[in-house]
Amino acid sequence: MSVQLYDTHSRSIQTLAPQPGEPLRFYCCGPTVYGPAHIGNFRTFLIQDVLRRVLEVDGTEVRHVRNITDLDDKTIRQSQAEGKSLAEFTTHWTEKFHTDCETLNMLPPSLEPSAVEHIPQQIVLIETLIQKGHAYAAEDGSVYFRVSSFENYGSLSKLKQRELKTQNENSAGAVNDADEYDRESVADFALWKARKPEDGDNYWASPWGEGRPGWHLECSAMIESSFGGQTIDLHGGGIDLCFPHHENEIAQSECAHDHALCRHWFHSAHLMVEGEKMSKSLGNLYTLNDLREKGFSPMIVRYTLIAGSYRQQLNFTFDGLHASQSALTKLERFADSLLKKTGEGREALAGYISADAPEDFGRFAKAWDALRNNLNTAACLGAIFGVLGANPAASLDADGARAMLRAFGSLLYALGLELFTVEEKQIDAPAEIQALAQQRWEAKQAKDFAQADALRDELLEKGWVIKDRKDGFELEPG
Ligand code: AMP
Ligand code: ZN
Repeated sequence: MSVQLYDTHSRSIQTLAPQPGEPLRFYCCGPTVYGPAHIGNFRTFLIQDVLRRVLEVDGTEVRHVRNITDLDDKTIRQSQAEGKSLAEFTTHWTEKFHTDCETLNMLPPSLEPSAVEHIPQQIVLIETLIQKGHAYAAEDGSVYFRVSSFENYGSLSKLKQRELKTQNENSAGAVNDADEYDRESVADFALWKARKPEDGDNYWASPWGEGRPGWHLECSAMIESSFGGQTIDLHGGGIDLCFPHHENEIAQSECAHDHALCRHWFHSAHLMVEGEKMSKSLGNLYTLNDLREKGFSPMIVRYTLIAGSYRQQLNFTFDGLHASQSALTKLERFADSLLKKTGEGREALAGYISADAPEDFGRFAKAWDALRNNLNTAACLGAIFGVLGANPAASLDADGARAMLRAFGSLLYALGLELFTVEEKQIDAPAEIQALAQQRWEAKQAKDFAQADALRDELLEKGWVIKDRKDGFELEPG
């Protein structure tokens, strides 16, 4: 069995396969770098990371391209609000994104193109679309895609025509500010947006006047330049991108190039908080740092975000994080029991975590099959704990333990899980919390117990417990 995955376009599970002699061409819509990515964004990026790892363990070479969205309404608006150039602003958030990715043990993509680096390619794409009758310039110098010119429009999301009127909203739900009366149809979307005063310095020259590309166009241009104009094998993103973003990518690319943009569409369901999608606009988000400050290690966060089936929404809760913490502890105890048999220390585990799969996953065969069968991480973890429950290390000799460590190590690689990292990666309480704890300690020394208790309660409310020691105190996440 090779890797099977649900394809949004055909609404069926299909085998993933690269073109003969080629790496699998995998493109993912990347982050909009206007603030820290939240863990909802990371759910999507982590699931993509797990799929790539599963493909690698399965023996498929992957060319993984994930872009940086550094040019859209949000990056422009926010950079201006902070009095920074767009480049300075987006570089800062791109670097922060990279740090979080590394901390979450995500493999870096093979290529990470950005929208600003691809303005000329986007202009060429628009010219081609105008020449072929799929786009038209409006009087104000904006250019629109003519949706009625593309018969297959809506085929990915199975849209009915009447629903197309919501087309002119961007991913954040804000209404596109393009002048509607300039468009032939409300469904038409902007490929080029004429310069506006609020764009500040962020405009480029084009055959239609100064302005900037519309958001959807960037991925069509970056896919073309990153994969040499070939049809790609796999395209990923959160389910919210299916319409209109991916539908528009298909329209732009297929009308310009007369061949399919992509063979297989991979959408992941959202991370939810109390019934609503985690999103910046709803203000219900957590970042990786928020959770680390509460004492949850990056691996606990990673485990939590990949443990559920990717096609189902995942509800974020602190109970879920605690459950992941104990699951990781169980995996660590299991690794310890095998390493004891081989006579090796914990540092030897890294040598077993590898994309080079063993011929036979042995007792972990079911866990590995679950990953190849539509990336069923939940079933995979269930199968792993089924094996652990039977305490298999007890009956193994050193060679048997090594073989089992190899299979277990390949599963850890596929899931991107590192063990024994909690102590190393745990960070101290933030400065504000430490200052409060110090004040509380001083109040206690001064025998101002009312003040000391009030500060202890305040710390508790902020999620920290004070443990008094003989000559000082320690802070623990509560
Ligand atoms: P953005 O930074 O808004 O461009 O989004 C980056 C990626 O995160 C996209 O693939 C989105 O679909 C995805 N995404 C946004 N919110 C969530 C969420 N709550 N759960 C899962 N994925 C999300
Ligand atoms: Zn995209």
